[in-house]
Amino acid sequence: MSGTVAALLVVVVVGLLSGHLVLSLLVGLFAYIGWHLRSMVRLLRWLADGMHAEPPVLHGVWDDLLGYLIALRVRARKRKRKMSRFLRRFQEAAAALPDAALILGRFGEIEWCNPAARHLLGLGAGRVAGHYFTHLVRHPALTQYLEAGDYSQPIEIPAPVDESRLLSCQINPIGKKHQRLLIARDVTRSHLLDSVRRDFVANVSHELRTPITVLRGFLETMGDDAALDCPDWSRSIELMSQQASRMERIVNDLLMLSRLELEVPGDPGPGLEPVPVPEMLVGIIQDARMLSGEGGHVFTLEVNPELWLRGSAEELRSAFSNLIFNAVQHTPAGSRVSVVWRFVGDESSGQVVENGAVLTVADDGEGIPDRHLPRLTERFYRVDKARSRARGGTGLGLSIVKRIITRHRAELEVYSELGRGSRFTCRFPAAIVYRRARYHAEEPGQAEGSGAGAAGLSS
Ligand code: ADP
Repeated sequence: MSGTVAALLVVVVVGLLSGHLVLSLLVGLFAYIGWHLRSMVRLLRWLADGMHAEPPVLHGVWDDLLGYLIALRVRARKRKRKMSRFLRRFQEAAAALPDAALILGRFGEIEWCNPAARHLLGLGAGRVAGHYFTHLVRHPALTQYLEAGDYSQPIEIPAPVDESRLLSCQINPIGKKHQRLLIARDVTRSHLLDSVRRDFVANVSHELRTPITVLRGFLETMGDDAALDCPDWSRSIELMSQQASRMERIVNDLLMLSRLELEVPGDPGPGLEPVPVPEMLVGIIQDARMLSGEGGHVFTLEVNPELWLRGSAEELRSAFSNLIFNAVQHTPAGSRVSVVWRFVGDESSGQVVENGAVLTVADDGEGIPDRHLPRLTERFYRVDKARSRARGGTGLGLSIVKRIITRHRAELEVYSELGRGSRFTCRFPAAIVYRRARYHAEEPGQAEGSGAGAAGLSS
C-alpha cells in the first residue's frame, strides 16, 4: 500500500515539475495497470502449471494472494495424504473381511466390491464395477429380494460357486443416491451346528416319549391301587405321576418346536387350509374354563364369525391355546380373560380389509415386569421359574407361539403393565385372511358344518 502511495507522489511531483500533471497521471495509471496485469499473468501461469514450479516473485496484494494460495495448497496436500491413508486402511480392512461386501448403485450396478465378494459370489478376477449385479450373480430369490425393497430380514441362498455352501445375504441402504450395501456371509457351519442341535433335541425327545408315556400309565394305575391298599404311598405316586405328566408335556413341546424349526421361515407350513378361527376359539375357551376349574376366571370372547384364516389349523390351535391358557395359568383366581378376534380397520364397506386380522388375549392379572418382555419368547424363559413349574408350565409355550405366528407371516406383540395385566396381540396379514361368507361362495363343499361362530360370547 505504501509503495502505491509513494509511486503516486512521484507521478504528481514529476507532473508538477514538468507542468504536465494530467499526462503524468495518465502515464502513471497505465504503468500501474500494466504492473497488475503482469503480476496476474505470472500468478495464473503458476496456477495453470499445477502449482508445481517455484512460486513467482510478486509484490503487494499479489504477494499476499500468493501466500494464501500456498497455505491452501499445503492444507489440501495434508488432507489428501490423510484421505489416502484412510482409504488404504479401509481397503486393507475390506480385503481382510471374510464376508462379501458390495456397494450397488441405484440400478443395481456394482460400484465397488471386496476380494471376498469375488470369491464367495464367484464374480471372477475381471473388472466388475459398472456391471449389473444380477447379470453376474443369477439367483431368482436374490434378484427378487433386491427388487422387493424390503431388506428387514436377510435371505439365505446356496453359494453360486458351491451349492453345498449356504450364504446369508443382507442389504442395507446407504448414502443419498439410493446406493445399497450388500453383505453376504457364509453360514454353512452355523447351519450345520443348528441342524445337529435340532436333530439331537428331536431325537432325544422322541426317544424319551415312549418311556415317559409307559411310566405315566403305570403310575396312574399304581395310584388307583395305592389309594385303596396303601394310603402312605398314594401321595408319592401322585407326585411322581404329576412330574411324569410334566416331562411328557416338555417332550411334546420340544418335539413341536423341532418340527416347526424344520420348516423354511416365512412358509406358512403344511398347506393353507381354511381355518375356522371363531369355532376354534370357542373350543379353546371351553378348555380354558376347565383349566381354570375352581379358579373361577371370568372369560369374555368377542369374535367376528366371518373371519377365518388360511394356514395350519393344528399350529394355530396350539398358538391360540398357549396364549389363552397362559392367561389362566399366570393370573390369580377370579381374573378376567378377554379374547377378541376381529378384522383390522373399517369393516363398514363389507370388503376384506387390506390390513388383515388381529387376535388379542388380555388379562387383568399381575402383569410382567418390563425387563422380562424382550426375552419372553426364548425357550425355557420364565419370569418366575418356581411358580411356572408349580403351575405345570414348560417355559416353551411362548417360543412355540412366536414360531407359529412368524410362520404365518404374522407378528406377536406383548404389552404388560405391572399390577394391571398383560395383552398378547397377534397381527395377521391380509394375504392369509378371508371372510367365511366369501369362502362359502367359492368353495361350498369345504365349509360344511362350520357353524356360525360366536360373536360377543361371555361368561
Ligand atoms: P410357561 O410354560 O411357563 O407358561 P411360556 O413360554 O408360555 O412358558 O411363558 C413364559 C413366561 O411368561 C411364563 O413363565 C410367565 O412367567 C410369563 N407369562 C406368559 N403369559 C403370561 C400372562 N398372561 N401373565 C403373566 N405372565 C405371563
